[in-house]
Amino acid sequence: MPSVPGVADLMPPQADVDWAVLALDLGGTQVRAAIVRGDGTVVTQRRSRTPVEGGGEAIVQACLDALAACRDAHAAAGGSTLLVGIGIAAPGPVDPIRGRVIDPPNLGPSFHDTPLAERARASLGLPAFLDRDTQVAALGEGAFGAARGCADYLYLTVSTGIGGAIVSGGNLLRGPDGMAGELGHLPVDRDGPTCGCGAVGHLEAIASGSAIARAARRKIDAGESEPLARLALARGPAFGAREVAEAEMTGDPVAASIMADARDAFARACVGFVDVFNPALIVVGGSLAAGQGDRWLEPAREMVAREAFRVPARRARIVPAALGDDIGFVGAAVLVAERLGLQVGPPRALPGERGRPGER
Ligand SMILES: [Zn+2]
Repeated sequence: MPSVPGVADLMPPQADVDWAVLALDLGGTQVRAAIVRGDGTVVTQRRSRTPVEGGGEAIVQACLDALAACRDAHAAAGGSTLLVGIGIAAPGPVDPIRGRVIDPPNLGPSFHDTPLAERARASLGLPAFLDRDTQVAALGEGAFGAARGCADYLYLTVSTGIGGAIVSGGNLLRGPDGMAGELGHLPVDRDGPTCGCGAVGHLEAIASGSAIARAARRKIDAGESEPLARLALARGPAFGAREVAEAEMTGDPVAASIMADARDAFARACVGFVDVFNPALIVVGGSLAAGQGDRWLEPAREMVAREAFRVPARRARIVPAALGDDIGFVGAAVLVAERLGLQVGPPRALPGERGRPGER
């Protein structure tokens, strides 16, 4: 990967010096920043609402303010931890080589081709690196989460949309444009609904939270589900996949069929992923998948066992992500370490894990 301005300005710290990064997790609703240590520990956090209505410059300023607040808190706390760089997880599409956010649909029309890494570097005086949020998440799960010690895995996040990342032979697949790994845009039904990206029958158009909510609204408009209509009225604009899942649990057959379609599309995609990538693990994160748990993962495991090629199907395990809300922060530390040639770890213990971290 071409070098990024700023790297040469910084001598790698001595191995015995504790290091940390300034991490930024930019989303459509929140700007979150943190100090993350080289062992994956999230130390200081700041968060604010993403000022989408204020336009691109307001969003950039909110990012810089959050980073500066974390840096100042870190300095005020004293200690010997050296801040080595800034890692940024941003919604795609991004250009990770030039550190630019291209035109993410959820940050408004004026947030276009924004050199966020360069702005952060100029403002805070540290080398800054940026990648798509799902790529960053995959790095985090690989170093500190469910894919620890695994060289061949896929990461999928299933929430409002569906994102992904591919790690093969220990390397994140980026592609010449940095856009590889958009696993949510795999076609799974050529007669299926139109995706947010404009194409037809993509996984995201059937199995994402927004797709499930859209399917439910169609059924409500057609007068086919009284329970869904009641929930939509009660929850207003908050009505979404969570409510559809709730209606399924209370026995509404229409909601059950929408959720079954989503799980089936996800399972079908996993069969393709196993056949194509031969992953040892498929790590599944995101609020929708987390809320559903094994209800979401088990049909995929069963369909992979039944329909994928025999040898890769026996190897592939489909598991929940381990890092939760911190995934962007932790991944940002790994991103900076990767670009600066630093070693991460030893890893912290995961929630609920016994014994020494790293020993399995
Ligand atoms: Zn699509």
